[in-house]
Amino acid sequence: MKKNIQVTIDEHSGFCFGVINTIKRAETLLAQTRKLYCLGDIVHNNEEVQRLTDMGLVIITKEEFRQLHDTTVLIRAHGEPPETYRIAQERNIQLVDGTCPVVLALQKNIKNSFEAPDFKEGQILIFGKKGHAEVVGLAGQTNNKGIVISSIKDIELIDFQKPAKLYSQTTQNHDEYLALIDEIGKRYREAGHEDFFTHYDTICHSVVNRAKQLTHFASLFDKIIFVSGEQSSNGLYLFKLCKQANPHSYFLTHLEDLQVVPINDHDTIGICGATSTPMWLMEQVKQQLLDPLK
Ligand code: SF4
Repeated sequence: MKKNIQVTIDEHSGFCFGVINTIKRAETLLAQTRKLYCLGDIVHNNEEVQRLTDMGLVIITKEEFRQLHDTTVLIRAHGEPPETYRIAQERNIQLVDGTCPVVLALQKNIKNSFEAPDFKEGQILIFGKKGHAEVVGLAGQTNNKGIVISSIKDIELIDFQKPAKLYSQTTQNHDEYLALIDEIGKRYREAGHEDFFTHYDTICHSVVNRAKQLTHFASLFDKIIFVSGEQSSNGLYLFKLCKQANPHSYFLTHLEDLQVVPINDHDTIGICGATSTPMWLMEQVKQQLLDPLK
């Protein structure tokens, strides 16, 4: 056992308010019914999904959702496209809408832009990860006519002779978004249509604030253990920031992964995580570090 290590959990890590709200709704309903369907993983963290499935949550795919009828289904914080609401109506499925208010507002803004009579020739651009649940929900507001931009090379899909409005998935990398805005703006200027391009600041403040704060936190310790599901967009982004601020940062998904983290006597260790990382899991990591025999 390593001696005299100091372990500190970042007090700002843990679920964001959007995820907290959805999980609370699931827990409340499960306490009453003992069984509840949820469309897709409720949160991008397998440990937390397991905790809730043990309570009776049943994770279903879109295909399984299409087969259900006369039941209740929870929509997670990422939100869903309009098609999901249509299917629910047709099949008498009651939706418990756990869409985060920040995502809901973004969906509405995209829909309004897409349907605006003076934007018929325009293009909706969505900076996000292709196939990510939130992006599917956002693109659905445009009948899937919006252009999803995952990296700078995707800007070749834009027609610079037509107007465009750019939005970002809420959990995207802020610096990459600013670089994208610069590049698209430049291409519109070169095309002589500078005024055709509008962009909106739609990255969630929970993520932006955590990014700033984590960079500072990561610099305070010998080692950083970043706890997150591998599928979490903001987890991968925030870990990248930790690694930049502290090269001795380690990505941990399961408690067993701790075995590969080299711990020395007298190390100071900071534990932090994504907006989808439960605090209880970070507490377990701390306990395991302090008392590995438990
Ligand atoms: S990261 Fe922001 S937008 Fe996403 S669920 Fe959390 S609060 Fe909502």
